[in-house]
Amino acid sequence: MDLRLLVVAAALAISVSAGAAPVLAPPAAPGPEVQLYVHIPSGQIAIQHLRIIDGTGAAPIEDATLLIDGAKIGAILPAGSPIPAGYRTIDGTGETALPGLVGMHNHLYYLQRPNLDPSGKFEQPIIIPQMTFSAPRLYLANGVTTMRTTGSVETYTDLALKREIDAGRLVGPHLDVTGPYLEGTGAFFIQNHPISDPEDARKEVAFWADQGVNSFKAYMNISRAELGAAIKEAHRRGLKVTGHLCSVTYPEAVALGIDNLEHGFFVNTQLDPGKQPDKCSDGTGTPTLLKMAPGSPEANALIKLLVDKHVAVTSTLPVFAQSVPLHEPLQARQMDVMTPQAKEAYLFSRNLTASRAGTQRAKDFARAYKNDLGLERQFVAAGGLLIAGPDPTGNGGTIPGFADQRELELLVEAGFTPLEAIKIGTLNGARLLGRDARVGTIAVGKQADLVVINGDPSSNISDVRRVELVFKQGVGFDPARLIESVTGKVGLW
Ligand SMILES: [Zn+2]
Repeated sequence: MDLRLLVVAAALAISVSAGAAPVLAPPAAPGPEVQLYVHIPSGQIAIQHLRIIDGTGAAPIEDATLLIDGAKIGAILPAGSPIPAGYRTIDGTGETALPGLVGMHNHLYYLQRPNLDPSGKFEQPIIIPQMTFSAPRLYLANGVTTMRTTGSVETYTDLALKREIDAGRLVGPHLDVTGPYLEGTGAFFIQNHPISDPEDARKEVAFWADQGVNSFKAYMNISRAELGAAIKEAHRRGLKVTGHLCSVTYPEAVALGIDNLEHGFFVNTQLDPGKQPDKCSDGTGTPTLLKMAPGSPEANALIKLLVDKHVAVTSTLPVFAQSVPLHEPLQARQMDVMTPQAKEAYLFSRNLTASRAGTQRAKDFARAYKNDLGLERQFVAAGGLLIAGPDPTGNGGTIPGFADQRELELLVEAGFTPLEAIKIGTLNGARLLGRDARVGTIAVGKQADLVVINGDPSSNISDVRRVELVFKQGVGFDPARLIESVTGKVGLW
C-alpha cells in the first residue's frame, strides 16, 4: 500500500463523554510499580520563583509561588509572599509551569508493516501491536497528563490499563478510552470488526459503552446510515463521536451530528473527483484540500458550518509532517526509545519520502499541508474549537509524548502564538472531554496536573521539550527515569 495513503489511513481518533459531572477518579496512593518513577511524593509543595502559563491564553505570571496542596492546586501567590508553614519548598528559578497536556489523538499502539523493505513494499496483514507498556510512560514523561486514545485495537486492554492507572498500580496519564474503530469493510488493519449495517453499528456502540469506553471514533469506510446510527446511540448515552472520515464527507458527518473531526482538514472528501456516496475516494481528501484554499468560498462555507454546529477539529500535524520531504529529523532521544526494527522501518520511510523531494506529488502535498495550516487558523479565528494530538502512526516517526510536544511547535509554525498553541493543547481538549472543571488550566482548586519546564515556552515553544517534572494529581514524576525505562521498546511493547 502506498505509504502516504497509509499515513492518512493510519491517523484517526474518537471523542469523550461530556456528562455533567467530572469523570476522573480520586487519586489513589501510588503502588510499588508507580513509586519507582515518583520524584516528589504528594504533599504540601511550594514552587517559588516560577513562571506560570495557565493555559487560558493569558500572559504568563512571572516570579510566582505555586502551592500544591495534595492532589490540588492550593494557591498562586505573588513574588515575595511568605510560604505557609509545613510546605516543602522547591526553587523554580528559570522554570515555567504549564497545565498538563491534554492529548486528543494519542494511540496506545504501534503500526507494523510486515517485511517492509527499503522500496516501501511490505506484506499483509498490517498488524497493530499494543504499546501498553511504553506509550503511557512516554506520554506522562513528556507532559501529557490526560489523553484520549482516539481509536483502539485492544479495547479491553485499554480499559484495564485505565483501571490500573486509576488504582495507582501502573504509571500513566488519565485515560479517556475510545472504543474500537467504527469501520465498515475495507479496514487497512486486520484487528477490526467490520460493521455490516446500521443496527450492527448501534450494537457495537451500546456494547462498548456498557464496558466503560468514553468515546467513539468512526473510520474511513463507514456508511452514512451506519455513522448516523452510531452517533444516535452514543448521544443517547451522553458520549461523543469523532471520525477520521473518507466515505462520509465533513458536511455529511456534521448533518449526522458528529461532535469532532480528526486530522484537521486533511481527510474531507467533499470535493474529491469521482467521490461516490458512502465510498472512500482514491484521493482520501487531498484533492479537496488542494481546492480549499483558506478564505476561499468553499473553505468559508465549511468553517461556518463547523462553527455553527459546534463541531471540534483535531489538529494532528506531527503525523502529516512526516510526509513532507526532509521533515525535521527525530531527536536522538526519540531514536533511543525505538526497537532496531522500528528504527529501520522509520528510516526506510524517511528515505523514500526524501527521494520524492521536488516531485509533483511532493509539491502537491506541501500545498495541501499549507492549506491545512491556514484552515486551522481560520477555524480558530472564526470561533471553532481546535484540539490537538500527534497520532502516533504513519511512518513510525510520530512517537508518543515527544510528538505531543512537536504538535505545539507545529501549531506555532502554523502561525499561532505559543500561548495560543498551549491553550489548544490543554484547555481546549479538556473542554471537549467535559473535564475542564478539573483539568486543562492551572487554577486554584483544580487538579495539580502540570508540567514544569526548564525554560520559557511562551518565548521559545521548543522549550516544551525540556520537561523537568510532571505532576499528576500532586504527585511529581521523574521524566528521565520514565523515558529510560522504555529504551529500545517502542515497536515491541
Ligand atoms: Zn489515529
